[in-house]
Amino acid sequence: MEGAIFEAMAAYGYENVFFCQEKELGLRAIIVIHDTTLGPAAGGVRMKPYGTEAEALEDALRLARSMTYKNAAAGLKYGGGKCVVIGDPRREKTEAMFQAPGRFIDRLGGLFLTGPDSGTTLHDMEIMRLETPYVVTLPESWGGPGDSAPATAFGVFQGMRACLKAVYGSADVQGRPVAVQGVGAVGKGVVKYLVEGGARVTIADIDEESVRAISSQYGVEAVSPEEIAYLDVDVYCPCAMGGTLSKRSIPELRCKIVCGSANNQLAHDSDGELLHRRDILYAPDYIVNAGGVICGLDSLNPGGFNRERAMEKVGRLYEAMESVIAIARERQIPTYRAADLLAEQRIAEGRLLKRLSNYKI
Ligand code: NAD
Repeated sequence: MEGAIFEAMAAYGYENVFFCQEKELGLRAIIVIHDTTLGPAAGGVRMKPYGTEAEALEDALRLARSMTYKNAAAGLKYGGGKCVVIGDPRREKTEAMFQAPGRFIDRLGGLFLTGPDSGTTLHDMEIMRLETPYVVTLPESWGGPGDSAPATAFGVFQGMRACLKAVYGSADVQGRPVAVQGVGAVGKGVVKYLVEGGARVTIADIDEESVRAISSQYGVEAVSPEEIAYLDVDVYCPCAMGGTLSKRSIPELRCKIVCGSANNQLAHDSDGELLHRRDILYAPDYIVNAGGVICGLDSLNPGGFNRERAMEKVGRLYEAMESVIAIARERQIPTYRAADLLAEQRIAEGRLLKRLSNYKI
């Protein structure tokens, strides 16, 4: 173990790792601050029954870093961080389990701003908010943005329009065949925007009840979960789970664009190269699924959350996706690399501006 944590931190320039425990409550949590060049670190609280402490730390490190990139690429003046709570969200949640992390986050004095993530809910955020003002994603009844899925769906739709423009010369979805995998909270929102825009939508979900409900509400066709990724469509929109783009699936794809909300769609970075070689335009997940975090952070504006302003910012994910495509084309690189470059460029600019501000009279 000697040196392992500092080595891991040094590899990608992490600033802080806080280990938090409250023995009597059985709480063990890790808060990672990756990079605060652009502003305080923002990222969710995840609760998961990690097998080992090392697994929890690794996840927290990886997720915090990806938040730095997501926030920077979305043009937000925030850095990246993450909090992981070790435990089973179905069995081990108690009110105190969230009061305690709230207090730990409060001690950081605004270095870390947070909201829900997998395994945590808006209700958990309410509990934390009583301990600290640094919880930014709250229910609407608390003046917050509420459920983030509709904003995420809108961002995915805007990113998809930018991809259509780049591939077909028009951002219009009218008449375009699109396959949506997963019609849960985000997927069904994407279906709504697509149907309203006149797209020809096909859906699939492992939950038959969801398929029935969405098919009859929007009059869209459904296929089996095994088929959806391989349909002959313009856009494949993965809104279920990660890892769907792999060296096994990519040769079988028949779409020209992949654009969806699912996190970590590329099984490996090398799969981004494979998509590039097959001339399939991949919308990097963290670029187009930033709608939820954009809404949460809007709450920090003077006067609090404003939906109109927040959705306008989410709409700018169209331009973010355009910038990624422009970088990829100019440098002849895959879009997943171009997205990282866009984020790195914004962080470098932020660093420069910070330096200049030292010389203000
Ligand atoms: P959700 O759980 O509401 O919906 C996921 C849907 O996918 C469910 O209906 C589920 O039955 C279905 N599904 C699971 N496995 C499937 C399979 N093999 N084939 C077809 N369907 C399958 O989740 P969500 O909030 O809609 O999020 C969807 C994805 O987007 C997740 O990867 C999530 O991490 C990501 N994401 C969500 C948000 C958000 O604001 N909710 C933000 C960023 C990223």
